[in-house]
Amino acid sequence: MYKKFWISVTFLILLCLCLWVQLDITAEAKRDVIIVIDPGHGGTNMGARYNGVIEKEATMKVAVAMKEELEKYEGVVVYLTRTGDESIELLDRAKFARDMKADIVLSLHFNMSEAHDLRGSEMWISSTGGLKQEAEHFAKIEQMLLKEYGIAKRGCFTRLNDEGTDYYGIIRESADFQIPAVIVEHCYLDRAEEYAFYDTDAALDRLGRIDATAVAMAYKLSSEELGVDYSRHYVSNTKLPEHLLTEDVTPPSEVSLDIVDYNENNHQLSLHLKVAEEESTMVYYQYSFNGGKTFSNKLPFYTNHEVDFVTQAYPSTDNSFVVRAYNAYGLYTDSEVYDLNELLFPYDGPVLREEDIVTEFITSVLDDIETFADELPPEIKSAATIVLIVGSIWGIVTVIVLFMQQRSKHKIVEEYQSEAKGA
Ligand SMILES: [Zn+2]
Repeated sequence: MYKKFWISVTFLILLCLCLWVQLDITAEAKRDVIIVIDPGHGGTNMGARYNGVIEKEATMKVAVAMKEELEKYEGVVVYLTRTGDESIELLDRAKFARDMKADIVLSLHFNMSEAHDLRGSEMWISSTGGLKQEAEHFAKIEQMLLKEYGIAKRGCFTRLNDEGTDYYGIIRESADFQIPAVIVEHCYLDRAEEYAFYDTDAALDRLGRIDATAVAMAYKLSSEELGVDYSRHYVSNTKLPEHLLTEDVTPPSEVSLDIVDYNENNHQLSLHLKVAEEESTMVYYQYSFNGGKTFSNKLPFYTNHEVDFVTQAYPSTDNSFVVRAYNAYGLYTDSEVYDLNELLFPYDGPVLREEDIVTEFITSVLDDIETFADELPPEIKSAATIVLIVGSIWGIVTVIVLFMQQRSKHKIVEEYQSEAKGA
């Protein structure tokens, strides 16, 4: 009896222990994700300067928007390495991340190239083991989202110095504290195609919100406020989420298109496109030669609301030229439709009257029959001739027989009538 009791007690204690360990693991798994956002540069360190934009200011605007958006998610704590315009050593930024127990450091930047010939987003990540894996996981998602938005993917890189450690300070110093780090070079300041992605506060705000979404996806966060749940998110599904696409619910209010020039020798058609869009940036345009049935590839806007472009135009049956312009929320408006045949390739032959058109049609049909007959092999051709001759004879005989029948009927009726009169 006592033995049974003690077995039960031991079993119960064991069960409680198991449950406690289980709960503890769950609690551990549900620990808040800690994100340290590092707005690149600051103070006397201006970063890149181009097109009226100073990098240290742009990175701060993106960082603020990113923090604000990220805090809409549950289970995440966000810190900025700087909140004002101050110079901070890279080591101190990394130490801050260590003190905050950061899961990852995301250092925000904008790029520039010496020859002004590069474009797209670049990610620089930790080079070793688990740090690399975690940094790369975020970088991949970030670049997919930026690509969806219109910023091409230049690549995700690691770089080592002569000592074999990470070349970039923020990555190296963070790695010393076992924290993965990513330098996010959003786009190139010195490429006109990319102006639209940073040249307004709204554009910087949007980059910050995209960065935040990438973090949410990478760390499988969810947000009741935004109505999104990335807890079962797979990298291959990465798309710009609805809530990032629906902030501006109106398409561009006007898309006006001007034909600037047409060169008859090389068929080059020069056009100027101007868009009225108050709420968001313009991202793409595409054009169609058939009234919108099929379109060219999407092309980037060189400046925010205007673009000059060239294409080639030729006479064609359907030559209805139209341009479609997309804002940053994927909403579009079409330009007016131009009939290029009427504008560029007017018909200069004689004007035909209706009966001429009928005559022309009959002649063309007869011509077609003749060509068809000519192309027939001789044996079929002679067989066809015999059929034609027999058919014609049969036709003529039928007509004669019918005519005779009609005449005799007539005669009978006439005879009957004259008989009747005579009676
Ligand atoms: Zn920078």
